[in-house]
Amino acid sequence: MANGYDVNWVMNITDVGHLVSDEDDGEDKMEKGARREGKTAWEVADFYTQDFVQSLDLLNISVPRENLKKATDAIPEQIQLVQTLEQKGYTYVIDDGVYFDTTKLDDYGKLGKIDLTALRAGERVAFNEQKRATTDFALWKFTPKGQKRDMEWDSPWGRGFPGWHIECSALAMKHLAETIDIHAGGIDHIPVHHTNEIAQSEAATGKPFANTWVHSNFLTVDGVKLSKSLGNSYTLHDLINKGFHSLDYRFFALQSHYRTQANFTWDGLEAARVRRHTLCSLADIRYQDAAIRVDVASLEGLYTDMLTALSDDLDTPAALALLSQLDSLLDGSQSHDHPSARSDDGLTAVLKKIENLLGIGLLDGPDISDEQKSLLSDRAKARADKNWGKSDQIRDTLNDQGVEIRDTDHGQIWSRSLPPTAG
Ligand SMILES: [Zn+2]
Repeated sequence: MANGYDVNWVMNITDVGHLVSDEDDGEDKMEKGARREGKTAWEVADFYTQDFVQSLDLLNISVPRENLKKATDAIPEQIQLVQTLEQKGYTYVIDDGVYFDTTKLDDYGKLGKIDLTALRAGERVAFNEQKRATTDFALWKFTPKGQKRDMEWDSPWGRGFPGWHIECSALAMKHLAETIDIHAGGIDHIPVHHTNEIAQSEAATGKPFANTWVHSNFLTVDGVKLSKSLGNSYTLHDLINKGFHSLDYRFFALQSHYRTQANFTWDGLEAARVRRHTLCSLADIRYQDAAIRVDVASLEGLYTDMLTALSDDLDTPAALALLSQLDSLLDGSQSHDHPSARSDDGLTAVLKKIENLLGIGLLDGPDISDEQKSLLSDRAKARADKNWGKSDQIRDTLNDQGVEIRDTDHGQIWSRSLPPTAG
């Protein structure tokens, strides 16, 4: 979008069909969660959808609100897609559902370059004996006999619910096109989920499903994979409760390229917090009354370089490294010939452009209050009168309010002190 593309972007919400195992066995995550919490699957889905969107907002991650599509809002389309696959001879029905016959495709597994011979030879423990091949996957699952699910629908094959993979293909075709430009997701989805999306989509349409796949890598904590049993995972709210800003985490995350595995440590998050604070303090220069000249042309150059870095496979570490130029460009120590020509509107405009690229909250800090401003001018007067006692006293008062003062050749420059964290 920074490059001028008009992006039509859909984000799907898997509110049905994702089973506890990534295979087609085990319970439905939503139905299981509902029973645990004494709610319906619909309530659980709604709660986590809202929590997800709120967290994205806190992280400055844009949400395509009109294009946030739930799997349960496209049940007829999913049934229709399975019917198309059935007509083309790609499906078979067994006791627990309708399955996709992966042996009918010559290029099944091409995304992850899966070694099918090895995979299909290795029988798995929970292998469904009615499945023709290990790689075959459910398109539609039947509600188990004698059970009643919160989420179930009638279909030509029997009452039940869609398999996990079919929603993505159906939603993409419904809201975008049979071939989409970019499909994103986590690398863990390459071997099964995205592989199966490709299989069913391309079998149905005869066209490529996605031109480009963008897969983000994992996050570890203290070098260890996140897992429930280790209790080493944190929510965004945990970080906020410890006194971090949600954007400190965003800053931390941007330091790693999305393709590389990132490792979370509290020290790493603290370093990101301190660095983000420094950058925001530098950007506070736009409020200053001191006669500071800022080289706006160099800032424009910085913006262009950052955009170039991000346009090269989203190189966020490179873009953040470029930000170190702000340390000298905005520190207020540059000489000035015209004391009256203080920072102009061009400064805020270019800082906004830089912020729009990164979303790190560079311009979120408010100006100091009118009372603090008048304290500053009292202090300037006291200094002109060589009344050092009064000048120091005012500085201490401002320090107590979280505003630090630096005296430069161009006058006083204030900055916000780094707030403490809870631990
Ligand atoms: Zn998907």
